[in-house]
Amino acid sequence: MHLKTNDIVEVISGDDRGVRGKVLHIDREKGKLVVEGVNRVYKHVRRSQKNPQGVRLSKEMPIQISNVLLYCSRCNKPTRTGTRQATDGSKERFCRKCDAALGQLSPSKTKDK
Ligand SMILES: [Zn+2]
Repeated sequence: MHLKTNDIVEVISGDDRGVRGKVLHIDREKGKLVVEGVNRVYKHVRRSQKNPQGVRLSKEMPIQISNVLLYCSRCNKPTRTGTRQATDGSKERFCRKCDAALGQLSPSKTKDK
């Protein structure tokens, strides 16, 4: 899965299925990522001197990378992606359905030494 932070992804399974959001954080070691507005849990903080009213904090919890797909703005749906070499030697992602380029993965290889 070739995802980066700030990508727009759509959740394809679980409670948040169909929810679209921005990737906030990726944990490649654990194979998880945090998506804005997805898998949000609320934590209630008891009343204290610091928070006399008590507060409700919300925080997104990581979900499995395999539960999301990159969103393709041209297809207007989540899509599977592939990678290919662009003409300038850089590596880019593309939508397997409509062939649209979906962002660069690595910079172009310049041959000057
Ligand atoms: Zn597409």
